[in-house]
Amino acid sequence: MVTNAQKANGAGNIPLGIPTQDQELAVRARLTQALQMSLDPSEIISLFFHQIQPLVQMSGVLFKSATTKDDARVGRESLHHCDYRLTTDEGYLGEVIFSRSKRFSEDELARIEQLLSLLVYPLRNAVRYQTAMRLALLDPLTLVGNRAALNNSLKRELQLANRQHQQLSLLMIDVDYFKKINDDYGHHRGDLILCDIAKNIQSVCRSTDSIFRYGGEEFVVILSNTNSLGAEIIAERIRQQIANTQIFHNGIGINTTVSIGISTHNGENNEEMESLFERADRALYRAKQSGRNRTINSTVMPLFHQ
Ligand code: GH3
Ligand code: MG
Ligand code: MG
Repeated sequence: MVTNAQKANGAGNIPLGIPTQDQELAVRARLTQALQMSLDPSEIISLFFHQIQPLVQMSGVLFKSATTKDDARVGRESLHHCDYRLTTDEGYLGEVIFSRSKRFSEDELARIEQLLSLLVYPLRNAVRYQTAMRLALLDPLTLVGNRAALNNSLKRELQLANRQHQQLSLLMIDVDYFKKINDDYGHHRGDLILCDIAKNIQSVCRSTDSIFRYGGEEFVVILSNTNSLGAEIIAERIRQQIANTQIFHNGIGINTTVSIGISTHNGENNEEMESLFERADRALYRAKQSGRNRTINSTVMPLFHQ
């Protein structure tokens, strides 16, 4: 049935007639079931948005998580808003902002609040799961991706490079004489230096480059859509940045250098991840052998000397 109020308001953000108790119960049951289907906060918000439309029509919903930077947004923003701060027994979860072109009535606000009680815990579980998944892929010391994240990313990037016939380069970076740095300044300061080195690498990479801690004092950078020459330029930038930056800890200035091996996938012959690693590793070995603090490209060996 279409009410006069609905006709007058046109399509989109029409306050519906007051739903019957049966309708409300049916929506709540469907909603409860739907919200159990996902552990992705964006999907949970989207399911909530679509499921509640028969009871309260909205043009858009935005969820601003308290713990992650990713906002979940569905639909479009309109003139009128209502905001709710969601909390659980574990603390503040985030803010949900509903919007539409018509003002919300008191009845509707009360209904939204009831529906939100069904959203809070599935959303909390999803945020918790997402956070755990993220942490599982982060190196806890330097906060760059860990080895598992590297494997995932490289596999995906290689598939993409093959599909789109694009080149892809890999930098394998190893800190020079790091054992001596630990011996001279202590393991704790060694840890702090690794964090600074990761930051230095990040500071000269492009936003599309991905940085990982491969293990110990070794880092890997994936340079998507980058040929051998482009990779050399970035590798040299990283090497120089680290060589020219004195790291200060407790007033002591410490100099470090890195050696870098480069390999490039040509985007043509479904090359395996292992072979790309192997070539970069061999180039890195050559860089170490030929004096350290240098970049060697596996395709054009050797290129950069001091
Ligand atoms: P090279 O120039 O040949 O790479 O010499 P190196 O001393 O860097 O290489 P080596 O493999 O002999 O030693 C690596 C050192 O890195 C030894 C290890 O104690 C240290 N290391 C590995 N992981 C960590 C870490 O998480 N924190 C600290 N402080 N040191 C680490
Ligand atoms: Mg090493
Ligand atoms: Mg080393």
